[in-house]
Amino acid sequence: MVTQELQEKIDEELEKGEKIIEETEKIIEEINRLWENNVSEEEIRSFVYDKYKELFPQFNENMLNILSETAFLMTTVGKKVRINLSNEQIEKLGKIKGKSGVCGTCLEDITKNEEVITLPCDEKHIYHPDCILPWFKLNVNCPTCRKDLRELL
Ligand SMILES: [Zn+2]
Ligand SMILES: [Zn+2]
Repeated sequence: MVTQELQEKIDEELEKGEKIIEETEKIIEEINRLWENNVSEEEIRSFVYDKYKELFPQFNENMLNILSETAFLMTTVGKKVRINLSNEQIEKLGKIKGKSGVCGTCLEDITKNEEVITLPCDEKHIYHPDCILPWFKLNVNCPTCRKDLRELL
């Protein structure tokens, strides 16, 4: 026999569970959106934690961590490691003029009055900005020498 009081308690818990699922779905969408906008993993993690904390102030830190981690792992970013340069890192690849050589991507000659991007790899490979910048949306290394640039930027 379920008393009125117990029934209310059960309903309340079920409602809370539904709210968690509902809010988690929204948070997952938001995480994917942030990720597409190149927001860092660290910033995304703190956004998720704060969001749950705001939605469920009754939960302790441990519970908030579990919820955040679960939501995070259900997103695109949680399933893969970062494989592109962040906007911040790309900005550090300043465009300069006065270099001549061959663009490592299109293999066309670069003249001294063209803008180039010099990568911080040992050989300082040069590229046309239009040739190299799209590359870093999906890669972290110099296309010529394969040097991982993440630690150099
Ligand atoms: Zn080029
Ligand atoms: Zn290189």
